[in-house]
Amino acid sequence: MKRINAINVETTNMSGKLEAETIVASGMVLNFYASNFFYDKLMSTNLLALRGESQNSVTKRMSNDELYDLFMSGAEEWNGIRDFELDLKVDRYYSWYSKVVGWIMPMKPTLHVNGKYFDNATEEDKGNNIAHEWSHMLGIRHSGTWFKESLPYLINKWFREYYSGTHNTDPAPIPVPTVKYITECYRTWRRLWLWETCFRRAVVS
Ligand SMILES: [Zn+2]
Repeated sequence: MKRINAINVETTNMSGKLEAETIVASGMVLNFYASNFFYDKLMSTNLLALRGESQNSVTKRMSNDELYDLFMSGAEEWNGIRDFELDLKVDRYYSWYSKVVGWIMPMKPTLHVNGKYFDNATEEDKGNNIAHEWSHMLGIRHSGTWFKESLPYLINKWFREYYSGTHNTDPAPIPVPTVKYITECYRTWRRLWLWETCFRRAVVS
């Protein structure tokens, strides 16, 4: 089966340093999902036994095979295209009082990350957050008392395990590909001041 093989990342409201870290982190997410390690983990999980999966989560109506195919196809709910790409728009905001690390809205392409946590997180931690949120973009949802007993949280655990180097059956990860940048700027009104917003689009292939 063809596996997910590219990342398409756009960042907004980030310094160059944060953006570079986000791109490396996204590469880690790609390597993780494309690995045999992830295949083995997903295929050996009894999805219906997870108490934190919401009733409307795609895990409730897909077999493990179908779910693995969904991950590999890169068909996020908001675009539905089997492009074998991880498509991400990562927008940074800052909320000092919020305990939310990152969130998405169903059917929307943006992953919102809270700078309070995101700015100083390691690349691995950034990647771990992106891996969790991207699973939501595929239609995987958690809720209720047992929300942590769900695929997105298992992904966090697996991601940690994958990069801790304790597994040894996996082939060497795919090298993070060379990044090509396209910078697009436009003027926008925000809070009554005119800002120039630049999107640095990293096209990775
Ligand atoms: Zn979540």
